Amino acid sequence: MSSLLVDDIGELVTNDVEGEAGPLGIRRDAALLVEEGRVAWIGPSRDAPAADRRLDAGGAAVLPGFVDSHAHLVFAGDRAAEFAARMAGQPYTGGGIRTTVGATRAATDDELRATVRRLHGEALRQGTTTMEIKSGYGLTVADEARSLAIAAEVSEETTFLGAHVVPAEYADRPDDYVGLVCGPMLAAAAPHARWIDVFCERGAFDVDHARAILACGQAAGLGVRVHGNQLGPGPGVQLGVELGAASVDHCTHLTDADVDALASTRVDGGHTTTVATLLPGAEFSTRSPYPDARRLLDAGVTVALATDCNPGSSYTSSMPFCVALAVREMRMTPAEAVWAATAGGARALRRDDVGVLRPGARADLMILDAPSHLHLAYRPGVPLIRQVLRNGVPQ
Ligand SMILES: [Zn+2]
Repeated sequence: MSSLLVDDIGELVTNDVEGEAGPLGIRRDAALLVEEGRVAWIGPSRDAPAADRRLDAGGAAVLPGFVDSHAHLVFAGDRAAEFAARMAGQPYTGGGIRTTVGATRAATDDELRATVRRLHGEALRQGTTTMEIKSGYGLTVADEARSLAIAAEVSEETTFLGAHVVPAEYADRPDDYVGLVCGPMLAAAAPHARWIDVFCERGAFDVDHARAILACGQAAGLGVRVHGNQLGPGPGVQLGVELGAASVDHCTHLTDADVDALASTRVDGGHTTTVATLLPGAEFSTRSPYPDARRLLDAGVTVALATDCNPGSSYTSSMPFCVALAVREMRMTPAEAVWAATAGGARALRRDDVGVLRPGARADLMILDAPSHLHLAYRPGVPLIRQVLRNGVPQ
């Protein structure tokens, strides 16, 4: 059994608050022992046990790897021209999704695989060690199934999003499309998916269709996630809470009743079982108002940050960028943003083995080119991730 000691860690963010000060469970002058891909020991550097190999952090900060709980990586083509038009004043409506659907259907498996691997690798180099990947640009039985099979080659967190939009060929008979999603499409997708998700929004799926699709997914053994309340007020949050969703994502337009509904799921050690996942890359890239993170946090709602990486509304794979946006534009403290991008994302995926560094957790971590987690927001746009370990293996 080979062991690896990461030592001379100036600031170790553990997110393990048992007996530690502050929400990030920060330890100073620490060391961390990895055995068989897991954290085996954490303690002061001076007490570090012997190990087969040593990785000197040089006094820098070490954090859990980012957990990006919301990304759409299986697609073809790009929508740079749509972005340029938006920056010239055109509003975002979500209609461009159908452009990507056409390109995705026309792509070969290898073309889709190459894009998934490129973006997944890009994210890894920026500290993301767990990345949820959705389907949703195929919208046929075969294209959704192959999208998920390709996603599952790089991630265990895969989400069936056949209900992204109603494809053009079903535009005048959405009930038939819902039947397809709940029937043969779900049957083909479920073996490759852990989650089911619905875009519950005006112009996508109404609450009755969304509820029917999510209920079918639950019956097939998939966990529930919801895209909701992105473009305007809507039923997404209430539906997510009703169905026990792990997360409602976007949460940009919330009523007081929506915030209360999320807060009402607060049972699990002070955290809400339904997480509000905020995706500030989407507001940045669509030049839209940001979600009110403070209102959620002050109400006791557990918040996650994710990239929403997709070719239309948020073509970034960078969690450090999202952390910087959350701090600057959404009034999250740097500690809240770092927690939301690591432990928060893990909660949104109902995982307790990632987003945290404690004995038994996966040895997924990053060494910064900086002395503190504060630098992620303080030095926006700078490549601060020096080294990433996944399952204890330097990447
Ligand atoms: Zn999304």
